[in-house]
Amino acid sequence: MTITQNKLPQVRKVVTAIPGPKSTEALKRRTEATSGGLGMAIPVVIQRAHDAILEDIDGNLIIDLGSGIGVTNVGNSASRVVENVIAQVQNFTHTCFTVAPYMGYIEVCEALNRLTPGTHAKKSLLVNSGAEAVENAVKIARHYTKRPAIVVFEHSYHGRTNLTMALTAKNMPYKEGFGPFATEIYRMPMPYPYRWVGDKATITEDALEMVTHKIEKEIGAHNVAAILIEPIQGEGGFIVPPKGFLPGLSEYSSKNGIVFIADEVQTGFARTGHLFAVEEESVVPDIMITAKGIAGGLPLAAVTGRAEIMDSSHASGLGGTFGGNPIACAAALGAIATIEEEKLVERSRHIGEILGSSLRAMAAKYPVIGEVRGRGAMQAIELVVPGTTEPNGAAMASVIAHCQKNGVLVLSAGTYGNVIRFLPPVVITDELLKDALSVLEEGIAAIA
Ligand SMILES: *Cc1c(COP(=O)(O)O)cnc(C)c1O
Repeated sequence: MTITQNKLPQVRKVVTAIPGPKSTEALKRRTEATSGGLGMAIPVVIQRAHDAILEDIDGNLIIDLGSGIGVTNVGNSASRVVENVIAQVQNFTHTCFTVAPYMGYIEVCEALNRLTPGTHAKKSLLVNSGAEAVENAVKIARHYTKRPAIVVFEHSYHGRTNLTMALTAKNMPYKEGFGPFATEIYRMPMPYPYRWVGDKATITEDALEMVTHKIEKEIGAHNVAAILIEPIQGEGGFIVPPKGFLPGLSEYSSKNGIVFIADEVQTGFARTGHLFAVEEESVVPDIMITAKGIAGGLPLAAVTGRAEIMDSSHASGLGGTFGGNPIACAAALGAIATIEEEKLVERSRHIGEILGSSLRAMAAKYPVIGEVRGRGAMQAIELVVPGTTEPNGAAMASVIAHCQKNGVLVLSAGTYGNVIRFLPPVVITDELLKDALSVLEEGIAAIA
């Protein structure tokens, strides 16, 4: 099919103040019409987006270093996604997979079973959001093991539904006033290398010892259905666990009949220089949860796991009206084809080299950067009061404001509200990325 796409030039162009007059007017309507419980990272209203450029209604071309929170890894409005969506919407929009099945759902599951780590037999379930996938992974693990307890970690983020709020670590803004929360959730210490108070040389062994000791003394390993962890913590501030920690947890899980669940919602689909972040240490989870980057911007999420675990539920025990919507599945097949055909895993490593070396050069110059961390196209800087490890939220806010004013969208993160994270579309050009990093550096230099 030939489609006409409004492609945007991949350049930054700021033609008004940000927000410009049209966005300012539109945002008044936003305030009047939409729930005050919603946040907003950048105060502009978008009318088009392509690859790594967002165009607002005042005509500003903004560099996207957020990908809608790690979603448009294949670029905004990637051509294979657009083509597949248009073709699908002309055929049918919905049947409900559990009413009358269709091939798109089956093909996405086949692709996930093929692409996720491990050579064992796998099966998948499709749902609408990351949180819904986490909920289902927990349901499945409990049903399979007939055990109640779920082990999670400090700094974790797993979503905003009742169960996933309980699984999430941070109170403000995710949980405050929204309880009571689900039970049988146990939070474990997370080895956060930058802030680890113990001996950093033995961090992995010490953290594993703390976690397994707590599991055995406070829960009983035989009561644990699942250990659930993000291979690199996203909202928590791109905390990369020390080498050996994930393999250690995975090994402990298999020895104790515990389902090891990797929440790859933010780290998946070529984000970290691998297709999935657990590949870095050859960890094979029993269940993997994916969402964000799966479908180039359409709402879709998946639970993929060992066939015997995924089959443990009785028929009709799992499902949902919209889960695996055919248009979202068509988009996912377009996104997956883009990742494979455009070699986006390699591209993600290349972005990682540019990002990492530029950020480390800035850290060497500006002591307000306490640490640079992450992998591939998922990296962050943690800002501190120079000479200390004290979180510097004011510096973060000032750098983000500078970036926005100059047409670069960056996102915050972190338990202490002092992390700037970079999640560019993996298709971003080198020139555009370097331009964005020069704007970032001006913002950092301005506070130094
Ligand atoms: C975003 C996110 C979720 C929740 O996904 P939603 O689609 O927003 O429900 C869960 N886990 C991780 C690691 C995430 O980053």
